[in-house]
Parts: sequence; C-alpha cells; structure tokens
Amino acid sequence: MIQLQQVKLKIPHTKAEIEKKVCKILRISRNQLLSMQISRRSLDARRKPDLSYVYTLEIEVKDESSLKKRWKQNRSIQFHPPVPPYSYQVSGTRNLSYRPVIAGTGPAGLFCGYALAKMGYRPILLERGASVEERRKDVETFWKTGRLDPESNVQFGEGGAGTFSDGKLNTLVHDPDGRGREVFRLFVQYGAPEEILYDSKPHIGTDKLIQIVRSMRNAIIEMGGEFHFHSRMTGIDLADQADGSPRLKAVLVESTADPQAEEKIPADLLVLAIGHSARDTFAMLAENQFSMEPKAFAVGVRVEHPQQMIDERQYGGTPESRASRGLPSAAYKLTANLPNGRGVYTFCMCPGGYVVNASSEPGYLAVNGMSYSGRDGENANSAVIVTVRPEDYPGSGPLSGVEFQRELEKAAYRAGKGKIPVQLFEDFCENRCSEGPGAFAPQIKGSYTWSNLRDIFPEEIAESLKEGILAFDRKIPGYARKDAVMSGVESRTSSPVRILRDKDCLEANVKGVYPCGEGAGYAGGITSAAMDGLKVARMISQTYRPFDKDC
Ligand code: FAD
Repeated sequence: MIQLQQVKLKIPHTKAEIEKKVCKILRISRNQLLSMQISRRSLDARRKPDLSYVYTLEIEVKDESSLKKRWKQNRSIQFHPPVPPYSYQVSGTRNLSYRPVIAGTGPAGLFCGYALAKMGYRPILLERGASVEERRKDVETFWKTGRLDPESNVQFGEGGAGTFSDGKLNTLVHDPDGRGREVFRLFVQYGAPEEILYDSKPHIGTDKLIQIVRSMRNAIIEMGGEFHFHSRMTGIDLADQADGSPRLKAVLVESTADPQAEEKIPADLLVLAIGHSARDTFAMLAENQFSMEPKAFAVGVRVEHPQQMIDERQYGGTPESRASRGLPSAAYKLTANLPNGRGVYTFCMCPGGYVVNASSEPGYLAVNGMSYSGRDGENANSAVIVTVRPEDYPGSGPLSGVEFQRELEKAAYRAGKGKIPVQLFEDFCENRCSEGPGAFAPQIKGSYTWSNLRDIFPEEIAESLKEGILAFDRKIPGYARKDAVMSGVESRTSSPVRILRDKDCLEANVKGVYPCGEGAGYAGGITSAAMDGLKVARMISQTYRPFDKDC
C-alpha cells in the first residue's frame, strides 16, 4: 500500500482530476492505478480567494515493487502495510458474578457498551434520561415553552451531551492503538457520512447524530446488551475487601418516571460514564468515599456573527464565487494570552449553527452551540471562554468547581429572568443593557431577552472576555463588531471535577468501578469520550471474562 501526501488541487475539482494528478506524480498510466482512497483532506486558504484541498491518499498500483525505484527521490510517497482492524478480543481470566453495569449513555457509555456487547459481556446500560426519540421531543418542548425536564434535556438522555451539538469530531488525543479510527469507523457504520474518515475538521450534525445513537442502541441490544431509560443511579453499595479498601457490591437505581420505583442491581463492575453535568451523582460519589478533586475548566459566552462575514474573512471572494465552489461554511479557532495571565480562546465553534439553551437544572441557565449536518444557518457561533482554576472557586472541596458553575448559571438565569440573556458586544464593553439587535438577528433555540451579561461574571473574567474579543478582531476583522451578539453563560465546557482512577488498571479507589469519559475528567469532547469508552472496555476485557449465566 502506498501513501501519497501533499496532493494539492484547486477547488472545485472532480475525483477524475485527483486520479489524473496522482498518476502524474507517480508517473504511471491510469490503468496501473488499482484503487485510491482519501485518508485526509484539509483546506488550504493561504492564497484566498484561490482555495485548494490538500489530500493524503492511500493508493494501490499494479506491480508496486517494480515501480518503487522510480519513486526513490519523492518524499511525499510512503510505504506501509494495511492497518489491521481494531481488535475486540477477550483475554481476561477473572470471573465475574454479574453483568457489567454502565451508568450513562453518552459517547463514553455508548461506545463502552458497544465494545463490551461485541465481546459477549451483555452490559446493562442505565440512563437517567429518555431514549433519544423521546428526548428530542422533550428538548423541543423546552425550547418552545421554557418547561425544563430536569432528567431529559440537552445534557441528559440517550446519546449524552453531544446529541444536540454541532457534532464536531476533532480530538487531540494520541491514538497509537487505533481507538480514534475505530470510533470514526463505527460512526460511519451507523450512519455518519464517509467524509468524517478523512476530513481534517470532521463533523456530523445533530440530525444525523440522533439517528446514529438509535442505530448503535439497536446493535448493542442485538448483541445482548440491555438499556434502562429513566433510570438514575442514585447510590452505590460497597463492601470492604480483606485489606479494608472498598469494593462495589450493588448499584441503586431510581426510576425518574416513577420516584417510588427503586431497584438494587447487584454488580461487580460499574462504568461511570455520567458526563460533566450530573451534579447530584458527583455529590453521591463524594459521599461514598470516591477520591475526587476539583479541576480547571473554562467559562464565558457564546458569540454570534453573520456566517457570510466569517466566510468572507476566511475564504475571500464573493458569496456567489464561494457558493459556486461548494465551500463548506467556514470555521475558525482563535486564542489570545492576556496581560492578566489568563488565556482566552474560542471553543466548540459552530459554523451555520444555533445557540441553544443547554440548561439541566431548574433555576440555572447554561448555553451551548449546535448545528445541523448542512451547517446552513445564518450565523456562526462560538464559545469565547476563559480558563478558571480551583483558586477561582469558592470553597476548596472536590465539588467547589461545580459550585462556581452553579453561581454563574444562577446569575445567568436571574439576568434573563429564566430566558437566555443576550447582549451586543458594544453594550458589554459599556456595561449597559442592550435594547435589541444590530444589523443581524440572533439565531437561538430557546427564548432569549436583551440584558447585561456583565452582571453574571466576576469583573476580571468579564474584562478578559472583552479583551479577548478585541484581540480576536486583529485576526478576523469584524470579530469585535459593535453588534456581535453575546449569550450567557457558557459554563459546561468540560468537567469541573475529576474522579481519580489508576492510570494502569483504570479503576477508581473503589474496586470494580471505572470512571470513564468527560464527567470523570478523562475526555473533552465526543470523540475523546467515545475513545475512553473503548479504552475502559478493553481494560475490562483484559481483566475479566464475560459472565456466562443467564440473569
Ligand atoms: P455525556 O455525553 O455527558 O453523557 C453522560 C450521560 O450520563 C448522559 O446521557 C446522562 O443523562 C447520563 N447520566 C448522568 N448521571 C447519571 C446517573 N446518575 N444515572 C444514569 N445516567 C446518568 N463535543 C464535541 O466533541 N463536539 C461538539 O460539537 C460538541 N458540541 C456540544 C454541544 C452541546 C450543546 C453540548 C452540551 C456539548 C457539546 N460537546 C461537543 C461536548 C460533548 O457533548 C461531551 O464532551 C461528550 O458528550 C461527553 O461524553 P460522555 O459520554 O463522557 O458524557
């Protein structure tokens, strides 16, 4: 197999034109080219408005060995054996007395559940929220009426926090054992577009994610797994081991549809894939001897601009010339280091997207961003956030970051009287309430009201946001336009707490419990959470063999 890098073609171009260029570089005829697969595609916009795609291609040719000499001088040509498929092998020998339990069906729980089911463990997946079909209706009702279901919302329910998202799949996690590749392969198998396998900025979109989550659930059930919706883990029974350290004995579950209905599931393995918003569950774990610590995260606002403005700055040209080349809505990523020592950066940017009310607790308000697969909304939005550290939190316990988040969300709820508080950037700088939009309207799912976001933040954070946005204007002129729309508060950027786990066996200090994914502090996004799910499943399969009795 040959890997050919740095194949650059102006946009637009056809597959036949890529093949022609490949044949020219390899100095072969068209009929010597047996197959060509894109393994990476990135957009080169350094000479705007002339834009190109740069490809890395996996290529098979007739008589590769006899041609090798011809390519000796060409460093863009590499040779490697085909990548073996991801392995789902059980090598563990210790016995289990029960089926593994997974709390949470976000990307971490779902991918862990998939891998365990594939290896014959028949996991039981507990989800406090509703199935994705039911949850979709609950979320739409919330956005239309403001009636929040605290168990089925943008944070909670099947598919987890990323279900109503842009579905960006970028991750910086190192991937020596192919977990990232396997996550993408499974996404495609269950309905994602093939481009995610090679695009340098892959994304799925909320509409497709919902279908993928449903298809993965069906696959897990077919392989022997079991889903319990409206089932919140509320407690954990522990036993003492011979050395006095705690071990898991059972998981306590309450029905969120019927609070009278309680169940105790005997268990010797529990995967904690609870996400970063399960504040009640964090508190329960802290009370149950789990080693936990507060962790740095980031807070700020969502900022909206017209997508046409971002496209123009990133791609150049006219709206017509961009449309005729079929360019995707442009994205950006910006950072600034401020004299006060804080870093400000954009996060989870949603081209052609919507700001959404992403609250999960009555009386508290949080926003986030979402887009559909076409990314064809009028506005671009992105979080603009500032890092906060345990020194910034009130108090000092493991849940002090959660308390800090809550304070901000309560202030945001108050500022908007229950609706999303929004403000123009000019008014934010002047510390005054906005009265209405400028040249473009906000694109928001959920009710909003014009307000003063300064009331939400400590002064230093508010100033950092202002300075950061002004600094970004030097990179994307117009970023700090007077009528850029800010919404608050963006507070669920990552987990404010880490549930400690052993770096080798991945277990918590409570034997049999595996903290996993974003909530536990070991991931920061859809792909990394899913990869962590596969990692925990592999660790379980290397330690235990499946429980083989019916129960
Ligand atoms: P989660 O997805 O949070 O899943 C945890 C699950 O556990 C939930 O379903 C919850 O209901 C359940 N649960 C919690 N407590 C209990 C309990 N006690 N009992 C039973 N079940 C429980 N990331 C990206 O990479 N790209 C994006 O474009 C992106 N956009 C986002 C947009 C929005 C609106 C939001 C909210 C998040 C976005 N994220 C995005 C972040 C991403 O969603 C998370 O990083 C990811 O979902 C974390 O996965 P997880 O499985 O660890 O946790």
